Amino acid sequence: MALDLPENIVLSKLDTLASWCRKNSLWPMPFATACCGIELMATGASKHDLARFGAEVFRFSPRQCDLMIVAGRVVMKMLPVLQRIWQQMHEPKWCISMGACASTGGVFDTYSVVQGIDRFIPVDMYVPGCPPRPEQLIQAIIDLQDKIQREGTVDGREFSLASRQQTIRALVELPIQSQWDSARNPMM
Ligand code: SF4
Repeated sequence: MALDLPENIVLSKLDTLASWCRKNSLWPMPFATACCGIELMATGASKHDLARFGAEVFRFSPRQCDLMIVAGRVVMKMLPVLQRIWQQMHEPKWCISMGACASTGGVFDTYSVVQGIDRFIPVDMYVPGCPPRPEQLIQAIIDLQDKIQREGTVDGREFSLASRQQTIRALVELPIQSQWDSARNPMM
């Protein structure tokens, strides 16, 4: 049935409207630990101008962010910090894994480096490269925006789909210093 709408009236679904708002106001939480972080900084600088895509408001408080960008290798010691920041970010939230190291451990095939952050937190977009160029990160943000618009719901039903429910390992807590000392010296 055709509707005779008055001028300047647009009909849409609430899901579509919420997704449109969310995708155009992504606030990144930078988790830059190595060389990829330099490319992340370049992405936010004037030459590449991330503001064109509404995602330039980098915040260093997880409670104000909804897009985690992990740029660089993550060592096991740093993992609890990464997971805690991720947990402190409010839903809905998304994650981009930037570069070979964050996605797979890269050339650091060793016990001390996390062999892919998706073993511990959910990842929405992977950016290949060592390091990826800013244009690649921008493309990942655009792809993520398309995904948010396509799948997003106002109450976050897309986050409870089976395909998004990966088995994520629990928070890794480091032993506190006194435990280390007593392990080395049982007399302590
Ligand atoms: S992917 Fe390459 S550029 Fe990025 S952190 Fe690893 S070694 Fe550095």
